[in-house]
Amino acid sequence: MVDIDHFPCGCLITTRDQKIVFSNQYFEEELGWNAKALESASVHKLLTTASVAYCNSYIVPTVLKEGRCCESQLSVVDIAGARHPKVVSVRRLPNGNFAWVFVEAEKRDKLFHELESTRLELQSQKEKLEQLSLTDALTGVANRRAFDAAARRIFAEADRSEAAVTILMMDIDNFKSINDAHGHKVGDEALLTLSDVLKATCRAVDTIARVGGDEFVCILPNSSLEDAKLVCKRIHMALADRVTGVCRFTVSIGASCRPATSSRHFADMLKLADMALYEAKKAGRNQTRIQEPKPSAMRHPD
Ligand code: GH3
Ligand code: MG
Repeated sequence: MVDIDHFPCGCLITTRDQKIVFSNQYFEEELGWNAKALESASVHKLLTTASVAYCNSYIVPTVLKEGRCCESQLSVVDIAGARHPKVVSVRRLPNGNFAWVFVEAEKRDKLFHELESTRLELQSQKEKLEQLSLTDALTGVANRRAFDAAARRIFAEADRSEAAVTILMMDIDNFKSINDAHGHKVGDEALLTLSDVLKATCRAVDTIARVGGDEFVCILPNSSLEDAKLVCKRIHMALADRVTGVCRFTVSIGASCRPATSSRHFADMLKLADMALYEAKKAGRNQTRIQEPKPSAMRHPD
C-alpha cells in the first residue's frame, strides 16, 4: 500500500463536477485544511477567485476533452486565507473522477518574477541605448543616423502621397571665431541655442538633426516653397533676438523644396540644399537660398 498521505505534494480525488472525495494529509500539514473540512466540498474552496475562473474555463474543459491537463499555475489559499502558488496537473481516472496533484511552485514563482523584472530592466536599457544611439548628445536632437532613417521614411511617405517636402540645411556663420574668441563652452551654448530655436520653430512632424559640428538639417514634410521661406525667416528672426553667453550669431540656410509634382530622390534634394547653403555663404551669410529641382525631374511633366 502506497502511503500517499506523506507525498511531498497535495493529492486530491474529485468527482467530475469537482467535489472532493479524497485529500491527502498535505492539505492539513501545509495549508491547515483538515480532511473532514474538505470532504464533499468543491475544489474551489482551495482556490482564489482568479484560479477558480481559470479552472472552470480551461482546466476542467481540457480534462473532459483530452483526459488530462498538465502544469497549470494556480493560487491555492490556506485556512488563514494566504495564497500559495502551485503547479497543478489533473488527470481523468477510468471511473470518471479527477486525480489532482498540487506541487510547490514558490521557488519557480520567485524565479519567474526575477526573470520578468530582469527582462523589463533589459528592455528599458535597450530602449535607452537605442535612443542614445539616435540622439546628438549635446543638443538632444536627432543625429546623422536617425536623420538618414527619418529622411528615408519621410521621402517614401511623400512619394506615396505625392506631397511636397522641404530640406533645410544650415550652418552657423563664423563659428570658428566664436570658439576662438569666447571658448568652446560658449560655442556649445550657441549650438544649444540654435537647436532650441529649431525646436521652437519646427512642427512636431518635422525632423531636426545635427549632422556635423555646426551643421543642422531639418526635413519638413508637406511643406511648399512658401512654407520653407516662412520657416527660414522665423529662424533668422529668432536668432537675431537671442544672446548666447557673450555673443550673438547668425546662420546661413540652404533650402531645397521638392514640389508635390516631383519625384526627385532624397540624395539629390540634399545635394541641392547643400548647394543652396554654399550660395548663401558666398552671398555674405545670415541669409537663406532656395533651390528647386529642374522641371525635367517632375512626376507629371506637362
Ligand atoms: P562658416 O561661416 O563658413 O561656416 O565658418 P565657420 O567658422 O563656421 O566654419 P565651419 O562651419 O567649418 O566651422 C565649424 C567649427 O565648428 C569647427 C569646429 O571647431 C567647431 N565645432 C565642431 N563641433 C563642435 C562642438 O561640439 N562644440 C563647439 N564649441 N565647436 C565645435
Ligand atoms: Mg559654420
